This record gives sequence, C-alpha cells and structure tokens, in this order.
Amino acid sequence: MTKIGIIICGRYESCGGGKCFRALRERAGAFAAYPKEEPVELVGYSTCGGCPGGNVEYVPEEMITNGAQVIHLATCLVVGYPPCPQIREFKEFIQARYGVSVIVGTHPIPLKYMKVHEQLDFWKKMGMEGIAGALMKEDAKTMEAYD
Ligand code: SF4
Repeated sequence: MTKIGIIICGRYESCGGGKCFRALRERAGAFAAYPKEEPVELVGYSTCGGCPGGNVEYVPEEMITNGAQVIHLATCLVVGYPPCPQIREFKEFIQARYGVSVIVGTHPIPLKYMKVHEQLDFWKKMGMEGIAGALMKEDAKTMEAYD
C-alpha cells in the first residue's frame, strides 16, 4: 500500500479533482508508476494556496502525518496556463524539508493541451520533459481520453 498526497495549482482551487481521481483509479499518467494490483491510498488533497504557493511550505506536513510517502504535484501545474514557475522549487523544497519523494504530475496531459503546449517555446525551455517525463511519454489515445 502506498499513501500519497496531491497538491494542485491554487488557480484551480474549485477543481473537483475528477481527472486526478480517475487517473489514480486507472493508473494512468504519473500514477502508471504504481502497479494496478497494489492499492494506493490518497491521504491528502490540497492546493498550493495560490501564487506564489505559500501552502507548499506547510501542507505536506499534514499529508505526511496521515502517512503520505509520495507527494504529487498535479498536472495542472505543468499544463495550466501559464504553467507554474515555481514547480522545480516546490519539488526541491518538499523533498529537502520533508524527506519524501515528489512526483511531478497526476493525470495524463489532455491531448488538446499537449498540442498547444508543444508549440510554446517557453514551455519547452522550462524543461518540463525533464521533470514531468512520464506525462510526456503517455500515448496520444490516452491523452485524448482525458480531453
Ligand atoms: S501557478 Fe504555481 S504558485 Fe501559482 S497558483 Fe498555480 S501552483 Fe500555485
């Protein structure tokens, strides 16, 4: 059993989490890293608190108190517009401060977003492929299913 927490972008604070929860169930996107036969429990779900992300300093603590071993930074930080400029710092900080793994990404990138973002030079320069590589490797059919 792996226990995880999810931090979403505060700009989408009213998001119901449908894509993240579906992907967790289907083991798609970043959740493909967990074998389907092994249970994964979501023990915390929150937002960064809005730019510049002050909640990232504190909210992992509660997730970890509830058993979280891995914190996921949601896909909305990667392909929301604009993408989160603090994404690398969040990952590095949480890992250093709390000693847990941080994975960038939750649900697959919807294909319609991917098609736009691939054209954005600044997005490529942000090196998203390097920090959210699993999401980029998803097949187009799965991405389309998350449009
Ligand atoms: S862009 Fe980054 S800092 Fe701003 S609300 Fe979204 S996740 Fe938080």
